[in-house]
Amino acid sequence: MNHFDLREGALACESVSLAAIARAVGTPVYVYSSATLERHYQVFRDALTAHPALGSPAIAYAVKANSNLSVLATLARLGAGADTVSQGEIRRALAAGIPPERIVFSGVGKTSEELAFALKAGVAQINVESEPELKRLTGVARAVGVRPAVVIRVNPDVGAGGHAKISTGGHESKFGVSLAEAERLYRLAETDDALNAVGLACHIGSQITDLAPLEAAFGVMRDLVLRLRAQGWTVERLDLGGGLGVSYFNNPEPPSPRAFAAMAASVVGGLDVELAFEPGRVIAANAGVLVARVIHVHERPDGRRFAVLDAAMNDLIRPAMYEAYHDIRPVAPRPGAAVSYDVVGPVCETGDTFTRDRLLAPLEGDDLVAFMSAGAYGAVMSSEYNTRPLIPEVLVRGDAFAVVRARPSYEEMLSRETRAPWL
Ligand SMILES: *Cc1c(COP(=O)(O)O)cnc(C)c1O
Repeated sequence: MNHFDLREGALACESVSLAAIARAVGTPVYVYSSATLERHYQVFRDALTAHPALGSPAIAYAVKANSNLSVLATLARLGAGADTVSQGEIRRALAAGIPPERIVFSGVGKTSEELAFALKAGVAQINVESEPELKRLTGVARAVGVRPAVVIRVNPDVGAGGHAKISTGGHESKFGVSLAEAERLYRLAETDDALNAVGLACHIGSQITDLAPLEAAFGVMRDLVLRLRAQGWTVERLDLGGGLGVSYFNNPEPPSPRAFAAMAASVVGGLDVELAFEPGRVIAANAGVLVARVIHVHERPDGRRFAVLDAAMNDLIRPAMYEAYHDIRPVAPRPGAAVSYDVVGPVCETGDTFTRDRLLAPLEGDDLVAFMSAGAYGAVMSSEYNTRPLIPEVLVRGDAFAVVRARPSYEEMLSRETRAPWL
């Protein structure tokens, strides 16, 4: 469920019309709904806590899905932790008020500088993804004088996800270590007095719309916990990652958080571990839209119609990168039969095509359209390609809205560069 609905014939976010935001802030613009973010977090949390066998799991929101400080602060107030993959994300989570003891540091390539920063900041847990990383962490831990809680990221060899580029659990992927390797690394970590080995983690992919691969992966993790315990090690934490898919309006209804939690309870319930989950997309995707203006509609003699927008692939790369589908809704739909459009941006690449042959209510120049489900992996993946300014982000709460990332001026953009002294 989300809070983007037609009100008096025009699309609104909670009680604020998208047209009013476009007038005040300009387009393109990302618009997020506080009520939707909160609801998604609460539904996910309540689904898990409904199962006493799951204990009180930690929910570390995957910051990379949408890392705007106000989005993080909205979730922080509800008690969310953060799953981070860079020093920058740790800094964001801290700045948004997420306490370090609720921050997890993941990722296949953490530098020594990043690890040192994380240890000094006192993050809760380092998810180690390889033997070289374990060795690096030992060195950093000794140098900093902090004994970090370490979790080994396992690759359970169950790939899943909405696209090859976002599947992370197959044995050929760069993430985590094999089961045999995990046992060996756990032993290394347990016997290293610079480290505090506390458990295991996995994350098999993103936009997963079927519980079966998740269930298989969780089963592999449960068995590994039992195997390590049989060898005499303590395993206190099990971090089961994120990946639960969302509705993009063209896919079958994904499993509900309730069904996900019931499955988790049946597989890892009663295992006597502190569980953690790292949802990203399922919290943020349907809590945001990208609002763009139609620059003009260009009709070819062969009948192909292009709706050329002021938003482009640099603002929302998912269609170009993952062949992703986004529902596109005119903000104030015109009456009349639906018309087929290729919806494109102004960037000089054929890849800058959001969709082809999409039936939409008739569009004219200056109309506004909204890309639905753009709250996750939208603004965070944007760039300034074609020297297009990063687009602003707006957070709505009830009948109020705030610009939570401003559009930079061209002067600001150019001032970050200098001419080399010999030029
Ligand atoms: C990306 C990522 C997540 C979040 O994935 P979603 O599909 O957005 O839920 C969680 N954990 C790790 C380690 C990740 O890399």
